[in-house]
Amino acid sequence: LASVIGHFVVGASLALPFTASKAVTRDVRSSGLLVSAGILAAVPDLDTVFYGVIPYGHFFGHRGFFHSPFFAIVLSIVLTRLIFGISRHGSLKAWLAVFSVFCLAGISHALLDSMTDAGLGVMLLYPWSKQRIFLPWRPLYAPPIDWKHLSLRQIRLMVNSELPLLAFAVTSLGLRTVLGRLYSRKHWKNNAVKDRMP
Ligand SMILES: [Zn+2]
Repeated sequence: LASVIGHFVVGASLALPFTASKAVTRDVRSSGLLVSAGILAAVPDLDTVFYGVIPYGHFFGHRGFFHSPFFAIVLSIVLTRLIFGISRHGSLKAWLAVFSVFCLAGISHALLDSMTDAGLGVMLLYPWSKQRIFLPWRPLYAPPIDWKHLSLRQIRLMVNSELPLLAFAVTSLGLRTVLGRLYSRKHWKNNAVKDRMP
């Protein structure tokens, strides 16, 4: 695992540009989308709860099935269906945006973990392969799973290796600003055309 904070930041950053669209925010609260994306990006590490019971290399072990992009997509379908099913409203655009954000957040966890420098890789290609895979570039420090005994040095290594993830958040913020401007200009133009209707 990378840290919970690292995963959360990346997940929320992936959701941020989507909040520029009025079609999305009409049906979904921006803050809700950001927070749920952050949580979804961190949630696969709940598989460490069974760390002592299910071996690391097991199909359901840490970084196994629950870390696979396949599981992220299935979970996203279920959650999106639940959200829009309960509220009984929502445009197709909002539905697609929420689904995409959830998928991206879940898959980001798998990708970040496969860029860490220790442990077993991630089941990235399931259901085609159960192989645990690392990406060729592994700059992220993987702290021990038993985080209660984390030393100060390990925390420092983790923070240093994850600091560049903030660039991700900044880029996302920039993209959100640009998209927000584009949307409001489009909205303004549409209204201007409507006003001139005879
Ligand atoms: Zn993980």
